[in-house]
Amino acid sequence: MIESRMLIGGELVAAKSGEWIDSLNPATEEKIGRFPSAAKEDVDAAYVAAEAAQVKWAALSSGDRAHMLRNVAAGLRQRADEVLRVEVMDTGNTISKMKADVEHAAHAIEYFAGLATEIKGETVPASSDNLHITIREPYGVVGRIVPFNHPIKFAAHALAAPLMAGNSVIVKPPEQSSLSAGILAEICKQELPPGVVNIVTGYGRSAGDAIVRHSGIKRIAFTGSVPTGLAIQRSAAEIGVKCITLELGGKNPLIAYPDQDPEKIAEVAVQAMNFSWQGQSCGSASRLMLHESIYDAVMEKLLKRVASIKMGDPLDAGSQMGPLNSKAHYDRVCSMVQAGLDDGAKLLIGGKRPEGDAFKKGYWLQPTVFGNVTSEMRIAREEIFGPILSVFKWSDEAEAFRIANSTEYGLTASIWTNDIKTAMRAARTIKSGYIWINNNSAHYYGMPFGGFKNSGLGREEGSDELLSYTENKSIHIKL
Ligand code: NAD
Repeated sequence: MIESRMLIGGELVAAKSGEWIDSLNPATEEKIGRFPSAAKEDVDAAYVAAEAAQVKWAALSSGDRAHMLRNVAAGLRQRADEVLRVEVMDTGNTISKMKADVEHAAHAIEYFAGLATEIKGETVPASSDNLHITIREPYGVVGRIVPFNHPIKFAAHALAAPLMAGNSVIVKPPEQSSLSAGILAEICKQELPPGVVNIVTGYGRSAGDAIVRHSGIKRIAFTGSVPTGLAIQRSAAEIGVKCITLELGGKNPLIAYPDQDPEKIAEVAVQAMNFSWQGQSCGSASRLMLHESIYDAVMEKLLKRVASIKMGDPLDAGSQMGPLNSKAHYDRVCSMVQAGLDDGAKLLIGGKRPEGDAFKKGYWLQPTVFGNVTSEMRIAREEIFGPILSVFKWSDEAEAFRIANSTEYGLTASIWTNDIKTAMRAARTIKSGYIWINNNSAHYYGMPFGGFKNSGLGREEGSDELLSYTENKSIHIKL
């Protein structure tokens, strides 16, 4: 049984109220630990500590800050096995997939540490009798709120850019899976000055909202769903003028042209849907758009591949798919299976709890594929964030583009054709922020990631993200 603590002002603490939230293993519904349920008073304490620490932190050289960040990354690597086990039991994601997340958490920190000297301004020839310069200054205390699908990866990433830019940070992990954040808290306590990083666990409506509404926190970055992103914008606007960036959901198209090999498309469609993360990935290509000339051949092969996905204990290295993350999420995803049926889509495979004793408890849903999907159906428009793939058939390109752009989302898209002109035409027409041509799913640090339309505001994973944690100040020196 794990009992994790928050990090506030360099101390590992419980919530002032003494309240806790239980962590359940989604594969078995067994309690595996608990973590503090923070409220406004805890966030207020975190703010006081963060504000007190920030000025000294910002006064360090960027090289010194980078050095300490690298020590946090090294601490994560040292405890990688422990983090991995906790994370697998707490999220239900398979151990083979989660391994990469733990490494990614350390890598994200090192990436931003490596950008230490990129926090730079400009000289501008705005007049001949002044030297005009801009400098980049930190906001002060930054709030970051992260979702449940990659808890350690997002929590670690959340620290890196704000800290490198000279801010102190308050991070709120997801209430479904907060145990790995307890380990991150211990590492940060060891490697960083007190108050520079504060980790506050709890529910969104209490701990998250208290961060958003804190009058001292002007810069907030949120990763999560569109409805929560909208709620955060509304709450923040009631308090003051705030700079908010949003990394939100997706309903991402994978468009396959007639020149493609059906076997290859079947393979990449299964990968791109992220069944191996139970579809719980913002970049999942949950809308597969096949040209009519390859539709039947792809579908035959795709259904065989989906049928062969091995569900099982997430701690088992051979398991290819685990359960959904929580009961509430499971119920929502299952209701979307029913929505697909109600709208007249054809259930081709899955849609049920898998059979067998191992799946009697827990939030298990088979990988599911619907055919005959049209763009008005709910399963075509709404992000499900579960293992449900909707397949469309298209005959002309204009129709494919219309379907691809027909949702409120615009996060990623994956385009498959050997013709570079066709590929670039599609890439420029599709309103998404991150586009793969003849590839899918991969993220490349240095390339800005973020959404068009309701998928978000701002860009992460590159120097844009680092600079987004600074304010630009203009200084004019009379010569
Ligand atoms: P969510 O919006 O329910 O919750 C995300 C976080 O917000 C949690 O920590 C939660 O406690 C907090 N929260 C909830 N209500 C709040 C409020 N009123 N004020 C402040 N904080 C609040 O999202 P989720 O279910 O945890 O995650 C799934 C969603 O995240 C999906 O939509 C997915 O696409 C999206 N996501 C986006 C990206 C991206 O990079 N664009 C990455 C991962 C996940």
